[in-house]
Amino acid sequence: MRLSRSFVPTLKETPAEAQIASHRLMLRAGLVRQTAAGIYAWLPAGLRVLQNIAQIVREEQDASGAQEVLMPTIQSADLWRQSGRYDGYGEEMLRLKDRHKRDLLYGPTNEEMITEIFASGVKSYREFPQNLYHIQWKFRDEVRPRFGVMRGREFLMKDAYSFDLDYEGAVIAYRKMMLAYMRTFQRLGLKAIPMVADTGPIGGDLSHEFIVLAPTGESQVYFEGGFEAIDWMKADFDNQNPADLERFTTLMTSMYAATDEKHDTAKWAEVPESNRREGRGIEVGHIFYFGTKYSEPMKLSVIGPDGKPIIPHMGSYGIGVSRLAGAIIEASHDEAGIIWPDSVAPWKAGILNLKVGDAKCDAICEEVYKALGGNALYDDRNERAGGKFADADLMGHPWQVIVGPRGAANGMVELKRRATGERVEVSVADALAKILG
Ligand code: ATP
Ligand code: MG
Repeated sequence: MRLSRSFVPTLKETPAEAQIASHRLMLRAGLVRQTAAGIYAWLPAGLRVLQNIAQIVREEQDASGAQEVLMPTIQSADLWRQSGRYDGYGEEMLRLKDRHKRDLLYGPTNEEMITEIFASGVKSYREFPQNLYHIQWKFRDEVRPRFGVMRGREFLMKDAYSFDLDYEGAVIAYRKMMLAYMRTFQRLGLKAIPMVADTGPIGGDLSHEFIVLAPTGESQVYFEGGFEAIDWMKADFDNQNPADLERFTTLMTSMYAATDEKHDTAKWAEVPESNRREGRGIEVGHIFYFGTKYSEPMKLSVIGPDGKPIIPHMGSYGIGVSRLAGAIIEASHDEAGIIWPDSVAPWKAGILNLKVGDAKCDAICEEVYKALGGNALYDDRNERAGGKFADADLMGHPWQVIVGPRGAANGMVELKRRATGERVEVSVADALAKILG
């Protein structure tokens, strides 16, 4: 995109309403605009980020064997009356009425709906296991929407739902999803640590929150340094092999990790001091096994091989897709602005033409822009170099191709890596190879 013709409304001033870095930077870099309390419009640069995050989430869900669907945002209240959650859900639920005075709601989550849909289509125990997910907007009327997209009222979530014939099957589904989450968060440039979470009346130990460290996180967390050392893209765990999933689980449970709600000071004391890490954390995902809590009231059952009915065991698996945009910035920024991981950046590179109108600068910029296509944001505005540097740093492109008259006369450009600040003078071909390589 050419910046001169793009709607990327950056701000020089720090917006007064924003209390944390990611919120300030998302507004300043022109990613989002608030349209009502806790409700945001995603502008061109922000939408690219949101779509990149969603795509990585999608690829890892697919790789785990889950199937994508898309359920509506509006749900019938009757569905929720069937599970018994309609009255109990409280004020977080946005309740609506249609012209026939029927009760509707804007979905805060989809357990009831997916259970009913699955029940209406599944015919045999042979069709198990299954896992269905969608990436869809949710609405929760949070008491205190804050921190920009991190605690919004309308937000984008990936929620998956697993169906198994028994507890043992559900455990495998749970482990597969945990492994998929480790890979997902690493691909998003994050270190996210699974921490034991409350299971409420369900009991058991199959509930984990995935936490990213950031000083502005809402909870205090404690974990072992070993989690940070694992490279999940290289780790040899085959998600189709139950023995591998067992080995994976042993590894995960061999290390201590807990939020303050679940913190066990006696166990913590056993962790060697040099291994202890603590800080504030942001919840970016939550996985939870809940057995037959919904299958029972929603009448999901199949006839088993012995002719007896089986009530499937379920789990649900959420990722805060829009919250992640904020969480990634919390984890990766500096004084000057955002530092996007390559995988989620709206554009891989910004092209900075320091002298618009100079024949050589213009020609080199056009050449680079053409080669990078949709991967570049070309700053072709008639503005001072200082302003362009500041905006490029603010927007956080992983690479900056800086084209000034002195280098351009010799066919050279400067290539800056945003994360390290390193700047090198290279040929156009070398710059392109580095960016695309
Ligand atoms: P929280 O404790 O932060 O309110 P939750 O337990 O209500 O989260 P879940 O119902 O497990 O969240 O939803 C799955 C994921 O959706 C969360 O891990 C989080 O990343 C995201 N999420 C939840 N509420 C919001 C919100 N108000 N704004 C943005 N993302 C959210
Ligand atoms: Mg909540």
